[in-house]
Amino acid sequence: MTVRPIITAPDPRLKAVSAPVETVDDDLRALMDDMLQSMYAANGIGLAAIQVGVAKRVIVMDLAREGETPQPRYFVNPELVELSPEREVSEEGCLSVPDQYDKVERAARIRARYLDYDGTPRDIEAEGLLAVCLQHEMDHLDGLLFIDHLSKLKRDMILRRLAKARRQSAAE
Ligand SMILES: [Zn+2]
Repeated sequence: MTVRPIITAPDPRLKAVSAPVETVDDDLRALMDDMLQSMYAANGIGLAAIQVGVAKRVIVMDLAREGETPQPRYFVNPELVELSPEREVSEEGCLSVPDQYDKVERAARIRARYLDYDGTPRDIEAEGLLAVCLQHEMDHLDGLLFIDHLSKLKRDMILRRLAKARRQSAAE
């Protein structure tokens, strides 16, 4: 397993629309293992393949709290089947938008279809953090970041802060 570097905004690769996976095989499982390790190494709770530069419709996630048993989850070719009309606002961050957080409104409950680590078709109903995280990660598969849900003013401000942080760390 390898920890792969995570791409940060405004890298144009983050805007790519990822391609569906054709078969869940050992190569794909190796990618998912790497993604999970990369996510843990960066203290994240979710990661889409494009964030390590691979344009495939694959997501890994672990919503266990610190001290709890790890609960890795894998979603291949996830599709939203149902979105509740009720919406909920919560604060989001993203490993590709480091150290920046803002409030995003999304469907409060969702139903999704996907293939698991073994390629078995699954159906999931989600609310709360799982619903937020799934919608956030599925956005990545279509080239969207959480900052794309914010006003242009807020988005530009965050991108400026990222550029400044990058300049500072380059100067160190
Ligand atoms: Zn993200």
